[in-house]
Amino acid sequence: MSYVDEVLAKVIEKNPAEPEFHQAVKEVLDSIRPVVDANEELYRKNAILERLVEPDRQFKFRVAWVDDKGQAQVNTGYRVQFNNSIGPYKGGLRLHPSVYAGIIKFLGFEQVFKNSLTGLPIGGGKGGSDFDPKGKSDREVMAFCQAFMTELAKYIGADIDVPAGDIGTGAREIGFMYGQYKRIKNLYEGVLTGKGLSYGGSLARTEATGYGLLYLTEELLKMNNIDIAGKTCAVSGSGNVAIYATEKAHQLGAKVVTCSDSTGWVYDPDGIDVAALKEIKEVKRARLTEYKKYRPNAEYHDKATEGTNQWSVKVDIALPCATQNELNLEDAKALVANGVIAVCEGANMPTTLEATEYLQEKGVIFAPGKAANAGGVATSALEMSQNSERLSWTFEEVDSKLKGIMVNIAHNISDAAEKYGMPGNYVAGANIAGFEKVVDAMLAQGIC
Ligand code: NDP
Repeated sequence: MSYVDEVLAKVIEKNPAEPEFHQAVKEVLDSIRPVVDANEELYRKNAILERLVEPDRQFKFRVAWVDDKGQAQVNTGYRVQFNNSIGPYKGGLRLHPSVYAGIIKFLGFEQVFKNSLTGLPIGGGKGGSDFDPKGKSDREVMAFCQAFMTELAKYIGADIDVPAGDIGTGAREIGFMYGQYKRIKNLYEGVLTGKGLSYGGSLARTEATGYGLLYLTEELLKMNNIDIAGKTCAVSGSGNVAIYATEKAHQLGAKVVTCSDSTGWVYDPDGIDVAALKEIKEVKRARLTEYKKYRPNAEYHDKATEGTNQWSVKVDIALPCATQNELNLEDAKALVANGVIAVCEGANMPTTLEATEYLQEKGVIFAPGKAANAGGVATSALEMSQNSERLSWTFEEVDSKLKGIMVNIAHNISDAAEKYGMPGNYVAGANIAGFEKVVDAMLAQGIC
């Protein structure tokens, strides 16, 4: 059995009932086979792959808080510190009822390679809780965030581990958590990113993941002699990544005609109205059923009753920006039948393995999340730099650095794929380019 297959089998045996983690490890290890084969003796001797798939440490803790009725509630909190070979752990906090150890581990594992790809000194980590902020009052969200941070504060720090937002964790939650950290530690330091502008946040961080996705998409298309202007796009999700991906796509001359949430999706043939979307999602925290009130010509489709989704619409570019495994083989077939030319992942692992392989076989330009959505964490690292300097950069300064980073990633993943004889395979390119830097650092630092 090959070294890769041995380690894959061990991961499944040692981490039963964590299918998302198995999926992420399989995708990475499968695509770095050429590098592993070329260095097998060295990697085996240093247990490189075994160390890569085993987090440095994992915390799981009780989060007890009191709801508005005076009832005590209990959630489970997680933080996985996966690998700090190239810098302090860095990765978001997901607040969603689906969160369990396997989700946090898959996200933490992906984060190691993504952070490496940014070219910045940040290691990989991830955390979160099965708490659902939906339908909770501001006071309840604050009570949860304070209880969560009371425990998390023991394990993080500006030079140790710097969490950020993710699904369910936006500016409000980061604010409550930062306040609690400061109160417990009596330290004013850049321990979280995605902070508000009045207390150490970076301009352009809110926009960064969505904007970065479009900078990378634009560059990959350009490298394939395709102009993004005039193209039609389907976006899924209507959260932070989806909103700013849509905004930047429109600025680049493309037209986004869909958005979605967990219950339904919208088709707006005139192009999604970003101002309306921001008001519905960022201000009112409402459902997408509201969208028709702003744009009577748009269609709202209920996922449960119709059994359809946004991937059935004829578009040139698909940008999944909601959650893991939201684009399956059937969706991929529908997109290809409609002539899609590129699928670029704004979310983490939104495309199933079978769908990814199918899209690649059909010659669709496919950009994996760890490259395509790296703009968020890259800008978080820029926020850390500003906090260390006690300075704030302008929007234009941060945005131009972000663009430079995304353009570099596009070229690096393309070059790595080419170097190992897989031109155009950006999944392999991203995994190899991310892996090479981390392994270099691991080898230099000895067995630890
Ligand atoms: P938000 O919480 O802001 O938005 C998430 C969106 O996805 C919402 O529209 C939500 O709909 C939808 N969604 C969430 N879970 C599901 C589900 N199980 N099924 C269908 N739809 C779902 O999160 P973000 O925009 O921040 O994150 C989106 C993705 O991007 C995630 O995969 C995240 O890990 C990834 N990402 C985010 C970064 C960031 O900077 N924010 C950075 C890099 C990656 P509803 O409201 O109905 O739940």
